[in-house]
Order: sequence, then structure tokens, then C-alpha cells
Amino acid sequence: MLIRAAVTRDAALPPTIEELELDAPRADEVLVRLVATGICHTDLFAPRLFPLPGVFGHEGAGIVEQVGAHVGKLRPGDRVVLTFGSCGHCRNCLAAAPAYCEHGHRLQFGGTREDGGTTLARAGERVHGSFFQQSSFATHALATGRNVVKLPDRMPLELAAPLGCGVQTGAGAVLRSLRAPAGSSIAVFGTGSVGLSAIMAARYAALATIIAVDIDPTRLELARELGATHAIDAREGDVVARIQGIEPGGVMYSMETSAALPALNDAIACLMRRGECALLTVPKLGAPVPLTLAPLLTGGRRLIAVLEGDSVPDAFIPQLAQMHLAGRLPIDRLVVDYGFDDIAAALDDAAAGRVIKPVLRF
Ligand SMILES: [Zn+2]
Ligand SMILES: [Zn+2]
Repeated sequence: MLIRAAVTRDAALPPTIEELELDAPRADEVLVRLVATGICHTDLFAPRLFPLPGVFGHEGAGIVEQVGAHVGKLRPGDRVVLTFGSCGHCRNCLAAAPAYCEHGHRLQFGGTREDGGTTLARAGERVHGSFFQQSSFATHALATGRNVVKLPDRMPLELAAPLGCGVQTGAGAVLRSLRAPAGSSIAVFGTGSVGLSAIMAARYAALATIIAVDIDPTRLELARELGATHAIDAREGDVVARIQGIEPGGVMYSMETSAALPALNDAIACLMRRGECALLTVPKLGAPVPLTLAPLLTGGRRLIAVLEGDSVPDAFIPQLAQMHLAGRLPIDRLVVDYGFDDIAAALDDAAAGRVIKPVLRF
């Protein structure tokens, strides 16, 4: 079928909207008509490590149009959100940890289906799709049965879109990876969509002390409204000392979402002994960075890396939607709408940090 898609041909330039041919769904696939799709930071750096020309977008939400014969859980007309791809047969998928699928990197960033075939073309030219097994910067997406999740009826699709990556990553890190109990304490470094989702989840889980750390006063104010009990502007001096001033001995949990080098070390140093830091991003992706390891060893502190909030999407995304519908996960406070044709402006606003969660509407 013919679709309209935002095609990136040069990693230094914004995508252009072009007409492409999309394959028909195979037995294990689902064709979805997109209604909305979020923009996540991975969409911004992915063009530098993905075969081009390519179509990005990995927070799609829409309506199921066709369902392959082997996908028993969905029907045409279902309202769904698209999430990350996973193979379903590796050791981690079989252990209910699909975010760490042993083929995950290839399924998100390979530009093809699991078997290596492409789904998109333009007049005989190969165009790479299957970004996170969806490539949702397009009017239609081919996904697999494994990364399409049915939503509760009342959940608005434009707010459901970010559940597929950014919101499940931040909320899942608190609720599933750290399993921070009621009454405990956390410091969240970075108040973008992932950090703010973590703060909303920490309030949901009734943590007693929730400290937001950033360098943007407007975002720190929003963090307070969404559940942070304290806000620290990192430009105003010793962050670790100020966290220890709030929570003597340090916090039980921390989370690094900012990719700022000082934040990485501070997120470890601000922990109490045996405290645990969840790393959701790294500074200077792929490059060595100075990291002070003594606090880990001397205090029995732990550093864990978290992908997609340890989500099992078919179970966790509907739970997040129900939390939103109950008024306990106000995603609407993060989202700003753009028309699909304004994708270049939306990407630009995301890169500049002017908007927390841009969502494209079709
Ligand atoms: Zn797998
Ligand atoms: Zn993402």
C-alpha cells in the first residue's frame, strides 16, 4: 500500500515527507493506521547510527487495520500503542525481560524485519523502516504481534503514544526496576519526559522524599507540581551536599536521565550506603567518561542500567493507561501537539528542550 512517511536521507537534515510503498503484513505482523506518535530523544540521535534513507518514530498509537493469522490477541479496529521490538524466543524474552532481548539492538536499530527484509520502498529504492519494529513517523506502520499493545477504551491515543517508550521507561524504572517501596527516597537527575514520568510514578508509589535535579527552573517547578517534594537547581552548587541535607546519609534510590557528566557521578555519590542508582542514559554515548567508583565499593552501593523500565509491555502499558485514567499519571502535562507536517519543527523543539514531549497528530 502507499503511505506518507517522514524520510531521513541525511543525518544532518530534517526528514522530508514522501510517499512510500509499505509491505502487506505477514502472519506474525500487524498493520496500524497511526493517529499519533511521540518524539523521544532516541529519534534525535538514531539517524547517526541507522542505515539511511530511513523512517524513525517509535512511540506510535493508532487503530489496527489488518492482523496476521498468527496474532491472536488483536482485531481490526482495536486501539493500540506500539512499543519496542523483541524476538520472543531468546533467553531474556523467555525470562519475561523483553527489554533486554538478545536481538533487541538489531530489532530497534537494524532497519529491517527480524529476517533482514525491509518493509518500505520508493520506486525500487530500498528505504529502511522497522525502527523499533514500527517506524511510526508515517501514516501507517507495520509492527509485530509482540510490540502492539491494546489500550483501555477511554485512553486518548495522543496521550497513549508516549507510553510506548518514554513514560514506560521512567515509570517502569521506579515501579519495576528499582521497585522503590512506599516511604523510601529517590533523587531523579533530569526532568525531561523520562525523569518526570519517574517522579509521577514515585508519587504514585507513595515515596516519602522525591528530589528533582535539573538546571531548568521551569521544569523544576513542573516537577514539583507532578510530585517532587524537593527541587534542586544543579547550577547553584554542591548537589550531593544538598541532597544529604534533605535526606541525612543519602537517598535510597537515584536515577540518572540527564546524560550530563556531573549528574552521573552525583547520582552515585548522593546514595546512602547500599543505595541503588538506575542509569537510564549515558553522557557522550559510546565515549569513555570519568566515573568515580569508590562510592560504589566503599558503601556497597549498586549501579544498574535500565532499558524501557523493565517493561513487559502487554501487562505494564495497560496498567500505565489505567493510572492515567484514574488521574494518577498526568501525562497530559508533558505533551504538546504538532501536525505531522510540522515534524521538522517538533524535532527541533525536542532537541532544543523547548517542549518535553512533542506528539505528532495525523
Ligand atoms: Zn528476544
Ligand atoms: Zn524512546
